[in-house]
Amino acid sequence: MPTDASTDSVLSARDLTRHYHLARGLFKPGATVRALNGVSFELAAGETLAVVGESGCGKSTLARALTLIEPPTEGSLRIAGTEVAGASKAERRQLRRDVQMVFQNPYASLNPRRKIGDQLAEPLLINTDLSRAERRERVQAMMQQVGLRPEHYQRYPHMFSGGQRQRIALARAMMLNPKVLVADEPTSALDVSIQAQVLNLFMDMQEQFGTAYVFISHNLAVVRHVADQVLVMYLGRPMEMGPAERIYRRPLHPYTQVLLAATPSIRPNPDKPHIPISGELPNPLDPPSGCVFHKRCPHATERCRAEVPVLRPLDERQVACHYAEVTAGTVAAPARAAG
Ligand code: SF4
Repeated sequence: MPTDASTDSVLSARDLTRHYHLARGLFKPGATVRALNGVSFELAAGETLAVVGESGCGKSTLARALTLIEPPTEGSLRIAGTEVAGASKAERRQLRRDVQMVFQNPYASLNPRRKIGDQLAEPLLINTDLSRAERRERVQAMMQQVGLRPEHYQRYPHMFSGGQRQRIALARAMMLNPKVLVADEPTSALDVSIQAQVLNLFMDMQEQFGTAYVFISHNLAVVRHVADQVLVMYLGRPMEMGPAERIYRRPLHPYTQVLLAATPSIRPNPDKPHIPISGELPNPLDPPSGCVFHKRCPHATERCRAEVPVLRPLDERQVACHYAEVTAGTVAAPARAAG
């Protein structure tokens, strides 16, 4: 099995692609949904990649590929140096321990009929030789780390608040000390007042365990203070990717600019640009030609309708836009397309 010890990455994706083929009846030709197209990134231990975009942008498909729920159609995925495609049974077992997931709705991911202590002990029961007493000791230590009290061990999921349930979900995901944690909108089902506490807990746990995080969110503001790198996706394609600090300070892709402009702020900024965006996310079964964002982009030209922009390096990040220099305000705007 190929391994790569020469890199610091614990998670490495190269041109990750996932297509779904759909049958459309006896006399109609099948269709292909290109849910994920050419996503590449490297993530080191203790780093956080935020994957951001509207629903339907491919971020959940990416999460399913990273957590081995669905294999990619093409591309390479390495976890802790092990190539996932072609991994042996024993290696896949290890990979499933190395990558854990926290879901948006913590209640749905917990068994309502089992005590919390038993649910937290389950990964240890399945994957280790620890005795019952040792498992209990580990569970209680983890419960303390996520801010739960010892008496919570004997309680059932319905006896906890949403924030506490997300603490339980995080504790369960961390029980096997994974190398990678994929968190799919982990705070979006929580009250705003609780979201910051839960995000802080995620960051504390990362500092302690050195886990690499992939944070999936539809909201750039939520991940602002946790992300080291940001990947902005639209209709299954990467639009902009790079260091969070660069992207938040000066977004280059029009879609990133729209997402940031739409972010509500506690301190309103009169200089914050209002960027118009029209229309809905296009039908993934019939994506637009050229740049997939052209139907909603305020800068679109004829070239955008005809030519797919490649992801290219610019200003210390990667951006897929023919006119990123224009949208960054460094060169004059081209003539807009009619209609
Ligand atoms: Fe807009 Fe054209 Fe850039 Fe696409 S390539 S984001 S349509 S300016």
